[in-house]
Amino acid sequence: MNISLEFFPPANLDFNALLSEYKKLEHLDPSFVSVTYGAGGGAENKSLELIKALKKNNLDIAAHITLVNKSIDDLEKIVSDFEKLGVKKFVALRGDSPEGKFKQHPNGFFNTSDFVEFLNNKNFEVIVSAYPEPHPDSKGFDFDLQLLKNKSASGAKKAITQFCFSKDDYEKLIETVLKENIEVEVIPGIMPIYNIENITRMAEKCGTKVPSNIINKFGDDDISNQKYAIEICNDQLDYLSELGCQKFHFYTLNKSYLINKIFRDRSFL
Ligand code: FAD
Repeated sequence: MNISLEFFPPANLDFNALLSEYKKLEHLDPSFVSVTYGAGGGAENKSLELIKALKKNNLDIAAHITLVNKSIDDLEKIVSDFEKLGVKKFVALRGDSPEGKFKQHPNGFFNTSDFVEFLNNKNFEVIVSAYPEPHPDSKGFDFDLQLLKNKSASGAKKAITQFCFSKDDYEKLIETVLKENIEVEVIPGIMPIYNIENITRMAEKCGTKVPSNIINKFGDDDISNQKYAIEICNDQLDYLSELGCQKFHFYTLNKSYLINKIFRDRSFL
């Protein structure tokens, strides 16, 4: 199974703790490791430092960059700083304005597809986001699909999905991408449930539904909670494989435990 792992610069800047979590996952041979950029408003400029630390392990890094609140000159500089560290892969994102509704920088990009084209013209590999369930700003599935088509036409070859617990929504996205000949590989973003309250809060912000049959499984017993979290991920990996997915991106939340447990329980690694 081909997997990639996502980390974020920790607020306490304890890169050693994060690296030790990465080391525990190294045996899974991730095809790349991605590092978020300013997600949740924190530690934006620390992505560079985290990538520097991870690069010491000779990893293929995909650096996330959000275009929000940046001029094209700002983006030029950020990309160049990452490139100096040996980064050749980017996850190109719009990002969110801290004040709510997305506002274009006067000298910046409006559409993510323009940013994709900017990176593609520099010969970087470009990955984008995809949404099985509508993004909170979305006008609907067809509109989101058109944006994905635009990002693909601008040079994105892969799209990592927002986390999602609905097989039907995944199926609709994957089948429509195939039917409409959108040349982008959909890579499901898998979110292990370390803490159901945190996941529900996160899900609300990004338009993901957490079904009540998942919420109701979790209670006060940590051992049972871990068992359910592993079952849910395994179930997702099974049905997504049946839908034809061959690559999976794990939102690690900077932790190794559940992901290691999932793969220890699966026979095909
Ligand atoms: P896009 O795919 O460009 O668009 C998302 C939605 O915005 C669309 O569905 C639509 O509803 C609306 N929209 C976009 N363009 C238009 C338009 N022209 N007119 C009207 N509506 C429009 N955030 C961070 O801050 N840092 C990160 O590192 C980060 N990493 C992420 C990684 C993944 C895999 C995913 C799925 C999300 C990530 N995010 C991150 C969150 C992301 O920045 C937000 O979801 C943001 O609101 C949308 O960015 P996008 O690139 O997905 O937008």
